[in-house]
Amino acid sequence: MNKHFIRAWKEFDVDDIKSHLLVFGLKSGICENCNNIINDITTKACPVCANEFRYIAFRPEVTQDSSFYAKLKDKFSAFIAIEYNDYKKLVAKSKAFDIFKKEK
Ligand SMILES: [Zn+2]
Repeated sequence: MNKHFIRAWKEFDVDDIKSHLLVFGLKSGICENCNNIINDITTKACPVCANEFRYIAFRPEVTQDSSFYAKLKDKFSAFIAIEYNDYKKLVAKSKAFDIFKKEK
């Protein structure tokens, strides 16, 4: 076995990610669906909105440590780890598109 983390590309439904995403900063996490603060990285569902977490993302300040993913490997193996910046760009783009649609 020669297992390492390699970033891979896959097509995702951004709305599905938004409903099931746990975003972690340096001190705590946040449920992307309802903005509830989450302190336990192993939490499987949000205690407030009850949405199951299937995706996990880390804010840029967390991922600046190159060994970060390796350290947390066992803790987040139940989640699909997504690139936070990719997600944020797509959310911003769909918000802009929604505004454009409303103005028509
Ligand atoms: Zn929630």
